[in-house]
Amino acid sequence: MTSILDLLARPDIRPKTAKWTHPVERIRQNVTITDEGCWIWNLRKNNWGYGLLTFYQNGYKPQTVSAHKASWELVRGRVPEGMMLDHLCRRPSCVNPAHLEPVTNRENLLRSTLTVAYRNLAKTHCAKGHEFTPENTAIYLRKNNGKVTGRERRCRTCSRERQRRAA
Ligand SMILES: [Zn+2]
Ligand SMILES: [Zn+2]
Repeated sequence: MTSILDLLARPDIRPKTAKWTHPVERIRQNVTITDEGCWIWNLRKNNWGYGLLTFYQNGYKPQTVSAHKASWELVRGRVPEGMMLDHLCRRPSCVNPAHLEPVTNRENLLRSTLTVAYRNLAKTHCAKGHEFTPENTAIYLRKNNGKVTGRERRCRTCSRERQRRAA
């Protein structure tokens, strides 16, 4: 995706309308700040929940940039080559530069929740050391508003022991 810095740096284009708002202002005006300090993006988002900032310059087709990246770059400068921004707060819609950290693709993959799920799947034993055999494994569906958002394996031995203790 295009960097907002490239768009802002084009010397041949200068905003000609009085209505033009600098992207810094536009970001500030379109976020909701949470108690945790997240700046939640209020405008358009992509399918993964990342904010999209459409950038208008006279004489050019509107260009859409990633809002969190734009927010970080406007404060910190260009994201180093081969790096991507990772949300320390794990909220894709957050555009607070302080919640973003450039990491390598590999680090980002290792940190993603998807990989956590994958690593859990690769485990052959539960935390107590019982093996995940077909007989000992129950599949639990995690749901949010009636929609299945994930699957989890539960150890039947552990569940039985928990019930016994509770009885
Ligand atoms: Zn955040
Ligand atoms: Zn167990």
